[in-house]
Amino acid sequence: MNGYPDVRLRRLRRTAAIRDMFAMPPPGPEKFIWPVFVVPGARRRERIDSMPGQFRLSADELVKELAPVVAQGVKSVLLFGQHEGDGKDEIGAPAADPHGAVQRAIPVLRAAYPDLVIFTDVCLCAYTAHGHCGPRDGDGDVDNDAACEMLARVAVSHARAGADGVAPSAMMDGQISAIRQALDDEGFKKTLLVAYSTKFASQMYGPFRDAENSAPSQGDRQGYQASFRDPKTAIRESLLDEAEGADALMVKPALFYLDMIREVSSRSLLPVMAYNVSGEYSMIHAAAEKGYCDLHATARESLYAIFRAGASQVISYWAPFYREIFGK
Ligand SMILES: [Zn+2]
Repeated sequence: MNGYPDVRLRRLRRTAAIRDMFAMPPPGPEKFIWPVFVVPGARRRERIDSMPGQFRLSADELVKELAPVVAQGVKSVLLFGQHEGDGKDEIGAPAADPHGAVQRAIPVLRAAYPDLVIFTDVCLCAYTAHGHCGPRDGDGDVDNDAACEMLARVAVSHARAGADGVAPSAMMDGQISAIRQALDDEGFKKTLLVAYSTKFASQMYGPFRDAENSAPSQGDRQGYQASFRDPKTAIRESLLDEAEGADALMVKPALFYLDMIREVSSRSLLPVMAYNVSGEYSMIHAAAEKGYCDLHATARESLYAIFRAGASQVISYWAPFYREIFGK
């Protein structure tokens, strides 16, 4: 009974009903976190050309946009803010402004959707004049420890506004312990700390940078983001964040890094989120537009791959299209 003709695997997939029975269940909508871009002001709904179906939204518009998303069972958002006009500076101080776009959006969302799980991205690159993820030192490098101090201030400002969890994405050494300490000191012991623990320097962020206007004006982020050529150090990044007190880990991007999702989730008992980034989303859109593949079927296949690799949740621009993708 070792093989053909005694074994015929096609029996396990002969009909649609049989295939359904043996299939891994689709990820539920509650596993999706929708990343959204909030802008200051009101009645603003700006199309993001490089990310079809995604918009920069003021808080009031985001409340409207969320209604059909929440109705599908999606329970969480990850907020990205933006700073407009003057005020971007060397250290990214506007990121901690209690009247910033993110800080103002949180109570508005909370009032409309009391049970929504609100995460915030904590970084400085959309708020520094130079576009790097922290203040620079005399050599032009990002000053790690000064960045940690600023990130902690930003995280506390988000917690104070009512975020359920903060998600630091700057890839600074020690940022998790610095933020946990600051949150605890300020009385935010219940605030979740979701580490972008293994975030690679990747080409897959292009459309996002277009959406956020956050590309560095000089240089790149290879000095702090993980290298796809050094997987061992990339895994250590996640394990160190666990040791520093993160509540959940993350691998970003997802689809070129399925092996990293698998590896991190086998080495840690923490939840491992996967960030299905802008480039991964927009590539499928571009291919579908050219007729190379079906949009929703390809999205579905890619999302299955992420969960098969071991992700416990996915941060994905597909979240608003859950029903179209999974047919529920
Ligand atoms: Zn950044």
